[in-house]
Amino acid sequence: MKILCVLYDDPKGGMPKSYALSELPKIEKYPDGMTLPSPKGRDYTPGQLLGCVSGELGLRKFLESNGHELVVTNSKDGDGCEADKHIVDADIVISQPFFPYYLTKERIAKAKNLKMAITAGIGSDHVDLQAAMDNKIDVVEVTYCNSRSVAEHIVMMIVSMVRDYHNQHRIVNEGGWNIADAVQRSYDVEGMHIGTVAAGRIGLDALRKMKPFDVHLHYFDRHKLPDSVEKELNLTFHESVESMVKVCDVVTINCPLHPETENLFDDAMISKMKKGAYIVNTARGKICNRDAIAKALKSGQLSGYAGDVWFPQPAPNDHVWRTMPHHGMTPHTSGTSLTAQSRYADGVREILECFFEGKEIRNQYLIVKDGQLAGMGAHSYSKGSATGGSEEAAKYKKK
Ligand code: NAD
Repeated sequence: MKILCVLYDDPKGGMPKSYALSELPKIEKYPDGMTLPSPKGRDYTPGQLLGCVSGELGLRKFLESNGHELVVTNSKDGDGCEADKHIVDADIVISQPFFPYYLTKERIAKAKNLKMAITAGIGSDHVDLQAAMDNKIDVVEVTYCNSRSVAEHIVMMIVSMVRDYHNQHRIVNEGGWNIADAVQRSYDVEGMHIGTVAAGRIGLDALRKMKPFDVHLHYFDRHKLPDSVEKELNLTFHESVESMVKVCDVVTINCPLHPETENLFDDAMISKMKKGAYIVNTARGKICNRDAIAKALKSGQLSGYAGDVWFPQPAPNDHVWRTMPHHGMTPHTSGTSLTAQSRYADGVREILECFFEGKEIRNQYLIVKDGQLAGMGAHSYSKGSATGGSEEAAKYKKK
């Protein structure tokens, strides 16, 4: 079989000769008892870069020794890109949300042999799920692999934004010491109302991680949490996003991107938020309206916006979120720490082993199966596509 794997660029200076840590902490299970990915083998060292081209997700030896062809590329956007040359006869395509190969309807139409799209990570909105269903292409992701990595990033972003860390750090780097400049936008998180749009694996973990800050916690989700969890976290459930954003100082967005959530935070929704609130979005860029966010930061309706997700990715060099005031954006990194890479590399290998051996892939990993939303796809997504406009990723120019 031919496997096309689209990965992000190697470090500019080449692959690291050594790493900061010599080993990763051992984690036995996910909090709900789900087991970690458990492939039969592993041909890489945990804690090393796997998500870039030379890392190859640690798959080459395994695939080639089983007689398969592996093509790895970072050329994924624009006419004539390498990935488009290989999609025409690939059986499986693997891509990461951090650097997504947008599997649009047009690409799917050309992919005559394609049987499965694997997301090395979580969030399969870069695949036109409707086209995948219509063409009986299965879509799977490595559920839970980096959910807790993202929740850590959310906590970092809430605290750093409310306390205005970036500004203070900049002042030090510039050799300054003006304390008044450094604190004129700096507050404590304690006592604030923090709400999440969606309390799935990431949203719930972010709530749990914020609890020790002595804040008031809120959520909205299409699935209500068990009473015991609401009680444990003293959580307020809201019947709508509008009801929640009205009372929150910080809103964190943790739902997948699908037609129900695309453009959810537009001018109208932002105008219903508490004046001066903060948004942390590590879910998907397209859930927030690009221009509405920039406008609200300029007017002061929002005090800050942080996150790591953009649309499209890579974000065009002139994307307004790179330069708008009071933002704490990173490139899409929260789910691709070295720790997380090791878990999703294992997960991809587990999925491939099952596929080649004709064994069932874990139900939790399924998004689309046999032309239908299935597993986590049925729980967390809706039918349709959210890939429109992804061709704009070709505008990004490497610096
Ligand atoms: P999950 O499936 O455990 O949780 C998703 C939750 O969203 C579910 O509880 C579901 O009910 C809820 N939901 C779906 N549609 C909704 C809607 N219209 N309104 C309200 N709630 C809705 O998934 P997860 O592990 O928590 O991941 C969530 C999302 O976060 C992913 O789909 C992905 O887009 C994003 N993510 C980002 C990164 C990153 O690196 N930044 C990494 C992992 C995941």
